[in-house]
Amino acid sequence: MRDKELYQQILGIQAPWKVSDKEMDIKAGKVKVHVEQKLGTKQTCPKCGARCPGYDRRRRQWQHLDTCQLKTLLIADLPRVQCAEHGVVSVHVPWSEPGSDFTVLYEALVIDWLQEASIQAVSRQLSFSWNAIDGIMQRAVKRGLERRQVAPPKHIGVDETSFRKRHDYVTVVSAEGKVLHVANERKKGSKYDWLTNPGNLSHKRQRSFKLLRESTLKTARAWAIKDLAMRLWSDVSRTWAEKRWKQWLSWALRCRLEPVKKVAKTIKEHLWGILNAIILKVSNGPSESINSRIKTIKIRSRGFQNKARFRNAIYCHLGGLVLYPQGVCR
Ligand SMILES: [Zn+2]
Repeated sequence: MRDKELYQQILGIQAPWKVSDKEMDIKAGKVKVHVEQKLGTKQTCPKCGARCPGYDRRRRQWQHLDTCQLKTLLIADLPRVQCAEHGVVSVHVPWSEPGSDFTVLYEALVIDWLQEASIQAVSRQLSFSWNAIDGIMQRAVKRGLERRQVAPPKHIGVDETSFRKRHDYVTVVSAEGKVLHVANERKKGSKYDWLTNPGNLSHKRQRSFKLLRESTLKTARAWAIKDLAMRLWSDVSRTWAEKRWKQWLSWALRCRLEPVKKVAKTIKEHLWGILNAIILKVSNGPSESINSRIKTIKIRSRGFQNKARFRNAIYCHLGGLVLYPQGVCR
C-alpha cells in the first residue's frame, strides 16, 4: 500500500477529501499530512446547505492523534464560499469542528484527560497552552449542555459551595448525582435563617437571632411568622401541606414587613418544590457528596480565575454531559 493511501486509511479521510501529500520529519518526530478536495467538488454553504460559488482558500492545520509515535498534523487549503444569504464562510470539514485547531479525535483524547486531571496538568502533558486546553473544555461543556435533555427530576438538591474565600459562593442544583445548574449567586443568605429550624442554627446564629427576635415589635412579629413556617415542615399530607402553606403565604405577603414579604414571594415561586421536599422528605446528603467532589476539583486545579471557569469545570466533571464532538463514541 502506498504511503498516501495508508495515511488516508489511518486518518479516516473520506471523499470528497483525499491525502495529497505527506512530509515526514523523523528527527523532529513529526509528520504533516496534506489533504485536499477532489477536483470538481461542488461547494455548499455550511450554514444553509445552498450550492455556492467558491470564494478563496485559506491554509489551516489541525492537530491529530500521533501516528507511529509521530506528532501528526493535518493540513488543508480550506475553501471559503460566497453564500447569497450568509456571505463569505469556510466550508466544514468532517475531521474537525468549526473554529477548532484540533481534530475531533484529538479533542476526544483531551476530554478523556480532562476527566482525570486539571487543565494545567493536561496542558503540561500534551504540550499545548493552557488556553488551548481550556478552549477544548469550554466547547465540550457548551455542546454537552446544548445536547442535554433533562427529564423533570423527582428530587433535587440545592447547595452552595465557596468559589473563593471571603464568602464568595455559587449555588449548585443537582439531581441523581449530577449537577443540573450552577448559579453565580448565593441562595437566600441569612434569610435562610427564617426557614431554618432553630435547633439547626449554630450557637452563634442562635444568639444573634435571639437578639434580633427581642429587639423590636416588628421583628417579634416577623419571628412569629417564621416560627409558624417552621411548623409546616412536618406535614405528611400534600393537600394539608399545600393548604397550610397557602394560609401562611397569605399572612406573610400582607405583613408589611418588607424582608419577610420578599422571602414569602420567593417561597410562593418555589412552593411546588417546597411541597415536594416536605412530602418526599428530601435529604441534602447527595448535595453534600456533590459538594465534596467540587472541593476536590478545586484543590486539583488550585483554584479558578473566575466563576465562569469554575462553573465550566463543575459541568465538565459532574454534569453527566455527553462531551465528545459529534461522531465520536467511546
Ligand atoms: Zn448560506
